[in-house]
Amino acid sequence: MKKTVFCVIAHPDDEAFGPSGTLALLAKTEDVHVICVTDGASDPRFHPIGGKKLSDLRIEELRASAKALGVQHVHFLHFQDGSLNNNLYHEVAEKLTVLVKEYKPSLLITTELRGVSGHLDHVAVSMITSYVYRENRSIDAIWYNCVSESVSKLMQSYFVFFPPGFKREDVDMIVNVKRTFTKKIAAARCHKTQYKDALRVIARWLISPKEEWFLVEERRKNGISLQ
Ligand SMILES: [Zn+2]
Repeated sequence: MKKTVFCVIAHPDDEAFGPSGTLALLAKTEDVHVICVTDGASDPRFHPIGGKKLSDLRIEELRASAKALGVQHVHFLHFQDGSLNNNLYHEVAEKLTVLVKEYKPSLLITTELRGVSGHLDHVAVSMITSYVYRENRSIDAIWYNCVSESVSKLMQSYFVFFPPGFKREDVDMIVNVKRTFTKKIAAARCHKTQYKDALRVIARWLISPKEEWFLVEERRKNGISLQ
């Protein structure tokens, strides 16, 4: 029987720029859901592209990206981009818990606790997902997506503080994403409103090992394989 996997992200594009190769591998055998906590837009104005609201465009982009990865389900919790460090922890946790009770995931995937890039929305989502994992003992494991030291060095100018990445020997799982690399690139390209980020990220992937790194916490083996 298929297991359910939840990938919990802050913004549309975090799935593509993060553990997309792994999500595409998992989606071959398991039921994968992406849960996006914000709509990816704090600006309510209409975007020049097609006269649509930026949040509507970004929702469409995430749906297209999920499709490119073979991911079957996308949920939005509809919080505002940039607002998650604003004492919303319990509200977000409650909404996420409703989905956990409904779909009974065996595995949660999110960013490592420093949000990979240090973005405060990512940090909040990682903390909240960790809390939901701790409170729901039916979930077997949580995988924290993280990056290597070499990636974090390349990204250091991107945010005010990009936390240092990990050493190979410090991570628990390295997923070879060669087989889903084309899907990973296709997913990144779906985020047309973020095309500058997408181009930069794809350029880095092309010259890097086709790997995604994770820290793993596990209550029990759940039989989820990355075949
Ligand atoms: Zn993000």
